[in-house]
Amino acid sequence: MKVLEDYILEKGTVLPGNVLKVDAFLNHQIDPKLMQEVGAEFAEHYKEKGITKIVTIESSGIAPAVFAGLALNVPVVFARKKKSVTLQDNLYSASVYSYTKKETSEISVSKAFLNDQDTILLIDDFLANGQAALGLLEIAKEAQAQVAGIGIVIEKSFQQGRKLLEETGIDICSLARIASLENETIEFVRED
Ligand code: 5GP
Repeated sequence: MKVLEDYILEKGTVLPGNVLKVDAFLNHQIDPKLMQEVGAEFAEHYKEKGITKIVTIESSGIAPAVFAGLALNVPVVFARKKKSVTLQDNLYSASVYSYTKKETSEISVSKAFLNDQDTILLIDDFLANGQAALGLLEIAKEAQAQVAGIGIVIEKSFQQGRKLLEETGIDICSLARIASLENETIEFVRED
C-alpha cells in the first residue's frame, strides 16, 4: 500500500534490535485518515469471506481494526492483556510473548463475544515473530470460530512470523512488507 509505505519512510525511525518506531501515526499518535484507508484496504481484500467479527489485541491493533470493522460493518473485539474487575471469568485465553516489551502476557477475550458461529478476521499492527497472531489463533480455536484471514498493517518479513502463519494456510494480507531494517535503512519487499 503505497500511501502506508510513504508514511513509514517519512515518519518512521529504526531503533536498535530491528524495531521500527511508528509512534507518529500508529502506535501512539494515530492518523485517522490513514487508518481509514488501511481499514478500507483490509475490507476490500476480505469482503467476500463472510466475516462476522474482527479480533485484534490491545492497544495498537485497535485503530486499524475499528476502521476495518466500520468498512465491513461488523463488530470489533480486542483481546485484553490484563484482567480487570469486569473481565475475570468466562474467558478464552492464551499466552503471548511480546517482542518489543520482552515479557509474556496472558491475553483474554470474553466468551460473550466469540463463538462457533463466527468467521473472524484477525488484525494486528505489526507481524514480527508471530506470537501475538498465534495467541489470537489459539483464542479463535478455543471459541471454535473460523479464521478467514489475518490482516497486518506492517510486516517485518525478515522475522519468522510470516512463515509460521503461512503454515496455517490462512489468507494473510500485509499492507506493508519490510525486507530489512539494517543500517537504519527501511527496505520494502518488492513483489514484482
Ligand atoms: P510478534 O508477536 O509478531 O513478534 O510481534 C507483534 C507485536 O509486537 C505487535 O503487536 C507489536 O505491538 C509489537 N512489535 C513487533 N515488532 C515491532 C516493531 O518493529 N515496532 C513496533 N512499534 N512494534 C513491534
